Amino acid sequence: MNAKPNDIAMIGLGTMGRNLVLNMADKGFAVAVFNRTGSVTDEFVSGLRSGQRVLPCYSLEELLAALEPPRRVMLMVDAGKAVDAVLAGLDPLLQKGDIVIDGGNSYFKDTERRSAALGARGIGYLGVGISGGESGARHGPSMMPGGPRDAYDAVRPIFEAVAAKTDGVSCVAYLGPGSAGHYVKMVHNGIEYGLMQLIAESYALLKQGLGLDNDRLAQVYAEWQSGELESYLLEITAAIFRRRDDKTPGFLVDLILGEAGQLGTGMWTSQSAMDLHVPVPNIDIAVSMRNLSALDDERAAARQVLGSGGAEARPAGGSPPAGLSVDTVRDALFAGTIITYVQGFAQLQHASASQGYDLVLHDVASIWRGGCIIRSALLRDIRAAFERQPRLPNLLLDPALGGQVAARRAALAAAAGAGMAARIPVPGLLTALAYLDGYLSDWLPTNLIQAQRDFFGAHTYRRVDREGIFHTDWSS
Ligand code: NDP
Repeated sequence: MNAKPNDIAMIGLGTMGRNLVLNMADKGFAVAVFNRTGSVTDEFVSGLRSGQRVLPCYSLEELLAALEPPRRVMLMVDAGKAVDAVLAGLDPLLQKGDIVIDGGNSYFKDTERRSAALGARGIGYLGVGISGGESGARHGPSMMPGGPRDAYDAVRPIFEAVAAKTDGVSCVAYLGPGSAGHYVKMVHNGIEYGLMQLIAESYALLKQGLGLDNDRLAQVYAEWQSGELESYLLEITAAIFRRRDDKTPGFLVDLILGEAGQLGTGMWTSQSAMDLHVPVPNIDIAVSMRNLSALDDERAAARQVLGSGGAEARPAGGSPPAGLSVDTVRDALFAGTIITYVQGFAQLQHASASQGYDLVLHDVASIWRGGCIIRSALLRDIRAAFERQPRLPNLLLDPALGGQVAARRAALAAAAGAGMAARIPVPGLLTALAYLDGYLSDWLPTNLIQAQRDFFGAHTYRRVDREGIFHTDWSS
């Protein structure tokens, strides 16, 4: 197929690995490939077009021998044990100056551990978040690399060639040392969870509250998609409502069991935010609602005991919940969407400071504009906000973005209220509203919590009228 030297090696020819290899080959790079199961390698290379320079290898020794220094070895295997297993196999073969790239969804603390171990031997370890799914990998993903700067510079031409392009700019940028890339990808996925929960709630309000059928839903989401809400997630939402089932006369979406799965990145985002003491309640609630959706048997038992809590589709001709309209739902979704990005970027800002990533958040917003699942028109405004104020702790402090949310607070409250009144669970919208009101409130009832903590645990409190730390003997 091709002779030495190959530009890069790929380990793992699953959905992501094989498509990235094809993308690299299309851009003129020569790629040596290896997959644990050799028959997968055979099947992959048998489908290649002539001119695509891909070298099949059937052992790690063969794979590394197909490279010249600096040897660039990329892993696209399952996160967790599979990465450690591959690294254990590579370990005796690696030399100082080699570069190992983990492109999977690895937990950032694993990346730190691996990076420290390999870095100590002079091997550059890059943790690279990659988003965009199968089609992104094939035609241009968003790439979030972190690790040693010189190791990134050695792979940069390949990454810039294969990444998505927005306004002619590649959706890849060096993000920072250590686990910076995988941390940013994790928060990307956390935001994705939050946004998907809000879109699902908008669907529930339109379907159960306003009685829209799938044809009308497809129309509404397509209309929204052409305005300020433009995003990849709304684009696929409109397409989903158009898809008919190929086995029955109905629409496919109505036949899908509403038990939402997850691979852990949303949960990791929430856990890390808790560690950092950064509120990201829209991501927390999105993870919780996926967990709740999976409690099928338990929820069925509860319905037997307490009766159904869920709203049935509004009967034709019945009146919609007070205050609810398609436009209200759209504005509420827009406000909730901004608030979800706000929380994710606030987490990145805190993590950057406390974990030493030194993230440039307008670069993060920029590389999320193309190729990734949370790409949206809004990221242009977010990038502009961080260009104006790079250390902005919270995007609500940006007058343009904050103003967009403030102008839609009434719609957010109306949609959330209508959902509550109609027993349509909309915890994402409610959470966004509470986050906004909590953030803007000049008084929170947490003075009482401090009093209680001091009462039962002598945890002390501060006063509004004088400096110092105080404790009261409440029982006296
Ligand atoms: P697939 O399930 O399609 O492929 C998994 C690959 O991992 C296969 O090549 C498999 O080899 C290999 N593998 C599994 N266990 C081991 C092991 N112990 N030792 C060696 N190789 C192993 O996964 P994807 O391509 O979808 O995902 C790869 C990574 O990319 C994951 O971390 C995923 O989270 C991430 N990712 C996935 C996205 C997606 O949309 N699919 C999007 C963004 C990131 P074998 O054929 O021998 O089983």
